[in-house]
Order: sequence, then C-alpha cells, then structure tokens
Amino acid sequence: MNTDEIKALNDQYVINTYGARKLALTRGEGVTLWDADGKEYLDCFAGIAVTNLGHCHPAVTEAICEQARKLVHVSNLYYIEPQVRLAELLSTQCFATKWFFCNGGAEANEAAIKLARRYWAQKGTPRGTIVTAEQSFHGRTLATITATGQPKYQQGFEPLPKGFKYVLFNDVAALDQALTPDVGAVLLEPLQGEGGVRVPDPEYLAQVRQLCDSKNVLLIFDEVQTGMGRTGRFLAHQHYGVTPDIITLAKGLANGVPIGAMGCTDDAASGFSPGMHACTFGGNPLSAAAALATVSVITAPGFLENARAVGEYFFQRLRETATQHTGIAEVRGMGLMIGVELQEAVAPLVDKLLEAGIICGPAGPKVLRFVPPLIIGAEHVDRVIAVLSAALGELGW
Ligand SMILES: *Cc1c(COP(=O)(O)O)cnc(C)c1O
Repeated sequence: MNTDEIKALNDQYVINTYGARKLALTRGEGVTLWDADGKEYLDCFAGIAVTNLGHCHPAVTEAICEQARKLVHVSNLYYIEPQVRLAELLSTQCFATKWFFCNGGAEANEAAIKLARRYWAQKGTPRGTIVTAEQSFHGRTLATITATGQPKYQQGFEPLPKGFKYVLFNDVAALDQALTPDVGAVLLEPLQGEGGVRVPDPEYLAQVRQLCDSKNVLLIFDEVQTGMGRTGRFLAHQHYGVTPDIITLAKGLANGVPIGAMGCTDDAASGFSPGMHACTFGGNPLSAAAALATVSVITAPGFLENARAVGEYFFQRLRETATQHTGIAEVRGMGLMIGVELQEAVAPLVDKLLEAGIICGPAGPKVLRFVPPLIIGAEHVDRVIAVLSAALGELGW
C-alpha cells in the first residue's frame, strides 16, 4: 500500500485521536526510516524515546524471533524464565530489588500508585494522597491523567479519581508545604518530558528525597521516558546520586515491543501480597525476551558513552545555532533528551524538518524535541543542524 491508500483506510476505520498523521513509515534500520512511498528519513524521535537502539537492532530482532519460535505467551500464573532473568538484570543496574511487569508507562504508574496506597493501608495508616508536579506527564488512564499535572489531559473526563495534588516542579518549598499527613507518595519525572523537556536544579531531587525521608513519604520516579539510557546514564536519577523507593519504566525497555515495569525496594514491595495486582500480558515470554536483549545492549560497557558524547555534541551545535537565530529561546535537556524552546509555535518547524527528511516532534506548544536513537552519530547531528538552520532561516526565525 502507498501512503494515500493507508491514509484512506485510517480515516475510514481508525478513531481519530491522533489528528492528521503525517507519515506512513513501513521500514527502519538503525537511525533510518522509509515511508510507504520509499522516501527516506533520519529518525530523531525514536517513536517518542522508544527505539533507543535504533530500528530493528539485530540483537533484539534475534531475541524476538528466537522467543517467537519457542513460546510467545503463558499466564503469569506460571514462572517465566525471560521475565525472571529480566528482573535480575534490571536489579543489577539500579536500586530496585523487586519488579512487577505490565504493558506500558501508564500501567507501570498505575501499579506504582496502587502499591504506594496499599503500602500505607497495610501498615494501618492509610495515606492515599499522591503529590505530583505541574506540567508532568504520567499517562492516559483515568488515574494517570489525574496524576498528570496538565488540565488539558483531564478536561471532559470528570469525575476524576480522588487523592492527587500538584506542586510546581523544581520548587522545594512548595513540596514541603504540600506534604501534609494524608500524603503517602510523591511521584515525579526526574526531568519532565512531555511537559517541555524541563531539567530541575542540580540539588532539587536530593532535596525532594530529604523531604520525603523526614516526612515518611514514598518517592516514586517516573522514568518511562528518561530511563533506558536516554539521558546518558541507564536511569536519569543516577546522575543525581538520589534513589527513589519506586521506579517506573516502559518506552525504551524492549526497543519497541510493548512492556512496562515497576521496580521498588524490598520494603515498598511488601505493600503487595498475592492477588492484589496482576496483568495478563505483563512481562510475557516475548516482551521479556525483547527487553532482556535491549537492556543487555544498553548496559554493555561503552554503549552509553556514545549517548553522552553525541548528546554533548548535539547540545553544542544547537547552542551555536541558537546564537544565529533569535527564534530559539533556550536549548535544554540531558544526554539525548533535548528540548529547543522557540519564540513561536513549533508546528511549522516540525513540518519543515519533515519535508527535509528529519523526523522529530514537539514537547508542548513551543518546544521542539529531539529524542533520537542512542546510536546516532555526529554526522547525523551535522545533517540535523544544517536542515534546522535552513528551516529557521526560511521561517524568518
Ligand atoms: C510516555 C510516558 C508515559 C505513558 O506511557 P504509555 O506507555 O503511553 O502509557 C508515562 N510517563 C512518562 C514520563 C512518559 O513519557
């Protein structure tokens, strides 16, 4: 099928929750994608921070094929070898010693919210309120749109679940005020993604940890977007020398095969007992095998050095570009999670880049977001910068 044929069927049969989709991508390899009409693109979006190893990474493709020939799915009523090996591998890479698997980011956050509430209920001191940040993003289920501190995701879906309140991100005094005795957990992205790629002050997360400790509140980091090497470390909070009690992962965890995970300390895990939470597909043999291969590549010695080095080069080139174009207000982010705040609405720029064969996207109305595969090279960055500079010039920005 060509793009027009795919578009016609989409418009006839698929509920329009995504607006006018611009492309029908049908093949990928590394940082390159091709559409249904054969046009080639440089991918700087990675399916929104998902295909961190690039498209069709051989190790992941091999793991998927091998597992698909052996066993695709069994119920979580039985032990699952790829799942336990994945849990073990993840535990060697961070603070968490216990894991629950599901299908994506929102489900991982639902699990974290449920666990935090059960944790306090079980202790006989129910503290159901969860504090989250304004401009955050935690998913599209009813509980996670409520956790998401952006009214645009909530409007029209009332009544929303109770027990959420919001503070300004990066404001320790506001959090201090918000931590009343009914609060059982704080849920934060270490750096905000959908909310515009916002990086907190270097000391913020450590101060949050201290506050949570002094007020006996669980700390949950949503690393659905920032995890899996995206910021140059395996997990973003590892830059800050701070550990949460609970963490959520998804997006890049299996390089595109749907899976989510919630990890936590042994103490936090004691909140769940048999029968309290479950997920039919969560961590099934196929998705767990793909995740195992993905995490093995990301955590292999040397792999993240590229993400850090190219990330630095990308920032340097963007900052240079910003000095030449008044249309750029700020360049921010970490590793290969990069936001370029513009003076104007971002949409026409995204379209221009796409026409020139560069795929990237927005993060809010005025922020251009680059979240390329972590295998991207300096030569690709140079191409992006050349195209971006020309596009800004054409727009008179
Ligand atoms: C994408 C995202 C989610 C939601 O993940 P889904 O897999 O779409 O449910 C949650 N939190 C953050 C930080 C995200 O970036």
